[in-house]
Amino acid sequence: MTSLTIRIGDQIPIRIGTETEVRYEQNGASLTIRRIYCKSCLLCIEACPMNILRLDQDDLIQVTEIGKCIFCGACAGRCPDFVFVLAPEKGEK
Ligand code: SF4
Ligand code: SF4
Repeated sequence: MTSLTIRIGDQIPIRIGTETEVRYEQNGASLTIRRIYCKSCLLCIEACPMNILRLDQDDLIQVTEIGKCIFCGACAGRCPDFVFVLAPEKGEK
């Protein structure tokens, strides 16, 4: 498995490419997307209130505009394949 970490404010690659796990970080919070487990069911896309999820050219989920992510966890709650792992900001319980 290959992995990529993107911190908010970084230049985000247009194509995630072959990376199978992508971790986004912002103010101590993180959203890890284990793309290799994505079954392309679209449920998370429908659940995301910010409309920033879509399938890429390989039919794996990716975030289009991570700067708009509010780390709400709706995607993690909806995905039947546990693709999303949301970690709280440091200091939160
Ligand atoms: S954490 Fe919320 S805003 Fe961010 S991608 Fe998931 S559903 Fe969308
Ligand atoms: S809900 Fe999970 S399996 Fe379905 S498209 Fe989203 S990430 Fe993929």
